[in-house]
Amino acid sequence: MHTSEHSVNTMSTDSEFRVAVMPGDGIGPEVCDVCLKVLHALVTRVAGLQLMTEVLAGGAAHYRDTGVALPDESTKAAEDSDAILFGAMGLPDVRMPDGTEINPQVTLRIGLELYAGVRPIKAMPGMPLPLADPRARDIDLVIIREQTEGLFADFQDKGTRDGDTAVDRCVVTRAGTSRVVDFAFRLADFRRSKGRPGHVTCVDKANVLTSMAFFREIFDERRGNFPTVDAGHAYIDATALNLVRQPRTFDVLVTENLLGDILSDLAAGLIGGMGVAPSADIGDRHAMFPPCHGSAPDIAGIDKANPIALLLSAAMMLDWLGERHHVSACLTAATRLRQAIERGFANGLIRPYDFGGTHGTRKIAQTVIDNINTR
Ligand code: ATP
Repeated sequence: MHTSEHSVNTMSTDSEFRVAVMPGDGIGPEVCDVCLKVLHALVTRVAGLQLMTEVLAGGAAHYRDTGVALPDESTKAAEDSDAILFGAMGLPDVRMPDGTEINPQVTLRIGLELYAGVRPIKAMPGMPLPLADPRARDIDLVIIREQTEGLFADFQDKGTRDGDTAVDRCVVTRAGTSRVVDFAFRLADFRRSKGRPGHVTCVDKANVLTSMAFFREIFDERRGNFPTVDAGHAYIDATALNLVRQPRTFDVLVTENLLGDILSDLAAGLIGGMGVAPSADIGDRHAMFPPCHGSAPDIAGIDKANPIALLLSAAMMLDWLGERHHVSACLTAATRLRQAIERGFANGLIRPYDFGGTHGTRKIAQTVIDNINTR
């Protein structure tokens, strides 16, 4: 553990936030590196914004080199921070003895009780979108993925294997479901106050699985506490279809862990792919901000990774810090960062490789920094 060279504004005040940075594996370090530069530009430009960053070790390469995926010091520093900025962890050729990948992100989600995986999917003007329908420009939805139980409950050696049979359980608890559906209802209510429909869809397979029927039952119980929010149900298979056919009809979706994992990749595809899909892992005491994508080893180290997903996650981090601690400078910085990205796409100055362009990680970040500096 060491203090990053990018640490900024060391003066300690009530509104100085400590950000633990976990770059991890593959493209994680590249996108984290430019994200820190962008945050530095914001600190320089936005009065009152103070961030102290600390880079922490962890990931599959760390496991390969040391036998430990997430050192205790990293976990402790992450716990003690105000927010965690996370690159990506995991490499296909570094595996646990049972064949699963090294995945400290899931360990952190469960350990820090980051129960709400927030995956906003919003098209920006100027982004080339895969759907031919011009109304795809209006896509603006958020998937809330339960992240501490469901089909990930048997993560890390807890599944059983007996001869020719392997079993993982889908664990759905009243407490775990209540807190995540409440989160979705509160978010829909907030979005309604900003002009969005304020509608939550519970996505499940309640027609087949007892665990998911229970998830739906709790959703129906809790919805009574949020009279201003509309609510409905949909099966996962129909939702996969309708997200492609009519994505504009969705506002907030809440679902089980694995279903949310799959659905959020599908939804990221609607706006061009993993390179532009941010996320936040939110709990009651801690929050972590990774991009939706993984470590993408196929493009690591060649300056081809799109950093926009992590930059948008960093904007979510600034919003979260600002709202939680009532610090307007963070909210201003989040808006300024999003506007800098939107302007880059709208003016055709951001053309990432994953969108068929020729702009590398560093060039895209520099465009965002230029836009921050010249708004
Ligand atoms: P995980 O299981 O950890 O979510 P994954 O193995 O499913 O990860 P990713 O690492 O997200 O997958 O990569 C999926 C594909 O998307 C790869 O071809 C990768 O190159 C591409 N990709 C992912 N992130 C980016 C990015 N930031 N910029 C450009 N391409 C990306």
